[in-house]
Amino acid sequence: MHLVHWFPKGRAKTVVTHARQRGTPDPEVVAIAFDTKRTIVTNNSKDYRREVLAFSRQSGRARCSDLFGLVLMPDDEADQRQFFPLQRRLTAKLRYRGRKIDWLDVHTYNLLVQADRDGRVSVSQLPRCAFCERDLPFR
Ligand SMILES: [Zn+2]
Repeated sequence: MHLVHWFPKGRAKTVVTHARQRGTPDPEVVAIAFDTKRTIVTNNSKDYRREVLAFSRQSGRARCSDLFGLVLMPDDEADQRQFFPLQRRLTAKLRYRGRKIDWLDVHTYNLLVQADRDGRVSVSQLPRCAFCERDLPFR
């Protein structure tokens, strides 16, 4: 089952919705997420971790290329299932720097949410540009 089916109606848009065809290359998916200010949710952890970091390196002195969060799900559907319903399971486990956070925090501070096969959820910081770090620090 596609990951999108786990999300409340209207809350998740697949890249297929935006792109003209299936099989949109990963770098293009990241660019679309940036342009449309969307959080990326994927079970392709290895490739997307790399693509997101590569995209962030484009940040320069005058340009922000911060993304809006990345959620890495386990590959196996049975492993994914333990994190849904979303609000009660995955959202309830979101913690960063000792406090409870929500999806708006993930989006605002460009956080990486990793849901592991064993049911654990870890949150860490993806790269942010100097401007965002200064103007909108995580508190
Ligand atoms: Zn920025």
